[in-house]
Amino acid sequence: MAERIPEALQKKITDRLHFYEDLGIRQFYLDRSAPLRDSLPPAVLTSPPDTTEEMPLPKPVRKPELPKAAPFAAAVAPKISPLPLPAAGPSLFESIDKIADDTLLKIREDLGECTRCKLHGTRHTIVFGDGNPKAELVFVGEGPGADEDAQGLPFVGRAGKLLTQMIEAMGLQRKDVYICNVVKCRPPENRQPEEDEVSTCSPFLLRQIDAIAPKVIVCLGAVAAKTLLQTNRGISQFRGEWLEFRGRKLLATYHPAYLLRNPPAKSEVWKDLQKVMAVLGLEVKKGKSA
Ligand code: URA
Repeated sequence: MAERIPEALQKKITDRLHFYEDLGIRQFYLDRSAPLRDSLPPAVLTSPPDTTEEMPLPKPVRKPELPKAAPFAAAVAPKISPLPLPAAGPSLFESIDKIADDTLLKIREDLGECTRCKLHGTRHTIVFGDGNPKAELVFVGEGPGADEDAQGLPFVGRAGKLLTQMIEAMGLQRKDVYICNVVKCRPPENRQPEEDEVSTCSPFLLRQIDAIAPKVIVCLGAVAAKTLLQTNRGISQFRGEWLEFRGRKLLATYHPAYLLRNPPAKSEVWKDLQKVMAVLGLEVKKGKSA
């Protein structure tokens, strides 16, 4: 007799399919080049088998690294269009030299039990950042919320769970990427960080990015984008465009917290993330169109 899918797994699959549906992905195709039935654990195979084959969970595959001399095929090479800088003058960040041999450990030590701005008075835990110190992809959010403040880790609340799903939909895991914020301490009542807080804390973010040296930086939301790009333009004017930050590719997209309030925007974010996947050599599965 055929085995039934355990209830917990059924729920996981249903949740995942709803997530893809929210992204605008409604069709799944069997990749006939992959021996799906042989590679799945027996518990996933169900009766009738055809039903399973029509709806395999998407399984992103990492493509082999492209040679260094010709990093990106013309078809996937992003068009980099630096933003005009704000009237105030050249970006503070562009003129700051990279610190030689800087490491995340040194940066964390320098940050210490920071009291440089008023946020220290209300925070419980400094949320420095988390993930792969050699990540090719860095996500930059705004600042910790209550869950992050309690746990000392970025993006672990509701918005964080959505970000984790997005990372996994890209074929990556959280440990493959690096996740951090513009400010390392929670602004009270989850208000936006103020200008003095951003300018006090963002040099640490800059050092984190320099030390990690990622291929791509994804800004989650307007605060991260405006901080790194030093622009006053609204995020919707440049969301999804390839920009440049200290010689690295930067793309700004909507913050996951915004997506929780406005689920239809998930398909826009998925389009943006597919651009990132192309640059990182992560396969964009056919049929996963937004
Ligand atoms: N929102 C952010 O911008 N950062 C976090 O770490 C959590 C929520």
